[in-house]
Amino acid sequence: MGRKEREQASWIEDTQTQPLDTCVLCGREGDMTDHHLVPKSQGRRQGVKLGEIPTVKMCAACQGFLVKTFSNAQLANELNTVEAIREREEVQKFVKWVQKQPLSRGVRVH
Ligand SMILES: [Zn+2]
Repeated sequence: MGRKEREQASWIEDTQTQPLDTCVLCGREGDMTDHHLVPKSQGRRQGVKLGEIPTVKMCAACQGFLVKTFSNAQLANELNTVEAIREREEVQKFVKWVQKQPLSRGVRVH
């Protein structure tokens, strides 16, 4: 193997071992967004500073589902922990379905 080839090989390895974020709901890996467990507008109303709202890594599909399915008040008051979100039957059904979808193909939930 020539010197150039070896350099290329290690470059490929590097990109493959880059840590991926995992969605807290469906467990798929890839580019995740920060989901604020308390919607920002609700946090402001309750006097919580934006930087103090806990965030979790979530894929766009799961986040879109939550926002579409629950109101901001529900998210802020009832679903402000990952455990509480996971307990919802609607969420469990969605997660079961979305786990079978490839992450690269945008899932339309709206
Ligand atoms: Zn997800």
